[in-house]
Amino acid sequence: MSTTTGQVIRCKAAVAWEAGKPLVIEEVEVAPPQKMEVRIKILFTSLCHTDVYFWEAKGQNPVFPRILGHEAGGVVESVGEGVTDLQPGDHVLPVFTGECKECAHCKSEESNMCDLLRINTDRGVMLHDQKSRFSINGKPIFHFVGTSTFSEYTVVHVGCLAKINPLAPLDKVCVLSCGISTGLGATLNVAKPKKGSSVAVFGLGAVGLAAAEGARISGASRIIGVDLNANRFELAKKFGVTEFVNPKDYKKPVQEVIAEMTNGGVDRSVECTGHIDAMISAFECVHDGWGVAVLVGVPHKDAVFKTNPMNLLNERTLKGTFFGNYKPRSDIPSVVEKYMNKELEVEKFITHEVPFSEINKAFDLMLKGEGLRCIIRMDA
Ligand code: NAD
Ligand code: ZN
Repeated sequence: MSTTTGQVIRCKAAVAWEAGKPLVIEEVEVAPPQKMEVRIKILFTSLCHTDVYFWEAKGQNPVFPRILGHEAGGVVESVGEGVTDLQPGDHVLPVFTGECKECAHCKSEESNMCDLLRINTDRGVMLHDQKSRFSINGKPIFHFVGTSTFSEYTVVHVGCLAKINPLAPLDKVCVLSCGISTGLGATLNVAKPKKGSSVAVFGLGAVGLAAAEGARISGASRIIGVDLNANRFELAKKFGVTEFVNPKDYKKPVQEVIAEMTNGGVDRSVECTGHIDAMISAFECVHDGWGVAVLVGVPHKDAVFKTNPMNLLNERTLKGTFFGNYKPRSDIPSVVEKYMNKELEVEKFITHEVPFSEINKAFDLMLKGEGLRCIIRMDA
């Protein structure tokens, strides 16, 4: 047992005090884990666009002060009452959506939408007692999607932790705790393109390029990347993207451009932008009769999806997914093994690294559309 077990830990965390204002590194108190909770030491975290949306709080409900962050890797420090399958020293990836292993969703092969632990972006407290485990001089600081990884220590429900191979380098596999698994799973588990098929990917950030990687692994012969940022195109070649479309280069809607390129539409599309217009285009660009579109991007809270119902009647399918339909505890350890066996490359998604003290730089890079994933080292 470590000396900190059962004690409050004082450590550094990057606190978002207000929407859109730079995070401030503060000394926070992290309470011990309660029933079915685990306290973990975060070693590496990275920034996903979802953190930026909730920090900007333009299209999402504002919850402040808050500790953001959900893509990370860490080591268990101590466990709360009732936790039997994790112990201090285990290597874990926290995940924004959980797996209780008992509800109808967890028992279904088709769903990862756990009744107890599914993503809830408005909740800023722990389920057990509706309280926060973080405070500064007694004043609570809210959690984010049950993970709050922009802190040296955080408390997470055991159902939101994937126990992984301790030999896996956490500075690399931390990106599997959200973005890369999300994109990869959206293609492999949900879109399921056939060998030789065509796939359009909207949004060539880390999530979209992981979706493209999934299409390449599936043997798709045409992978059409769609992005408004022309700088993405060069990078995307490394991920098997074979053709590019920048909607800004055309007067007509991008779905018409894609339909012309593909003799009526692509077999599959995966949307990874979070923008409603791209979601509609991603649906309308699939071929009638068999096309399947998968939505991944997190929409503005008031967004409304509009399309003529004939587009559906003509036998197009619209789907959506969180976390690529992976069950965090059951499936993520094997995604990490794919990396260990060299079936999956994660290095090419990691374009930047900053010390924790410079976490705001990671936000600047994402806002400028530069690079894919920026690793934030907690010990620096
Ligand atoms: P990112 O910012 O790195 O990449 C998004 C890309 O989309 C950018 O290159 C941007 O130029 C492009 N884009 C924006 N609007 C566009 C449009 N209208 N048409 C074409 N391209 C457009 O972000 P990311 O970290 O890769 O995340 C992508 C999306 O996935 C975000 O919405 C994020 O919130 C979401 N996400 C969802 C899940 C899930 O489980 N469903 C998990 C992680 C992330
Ligand atoms: Zn994410």
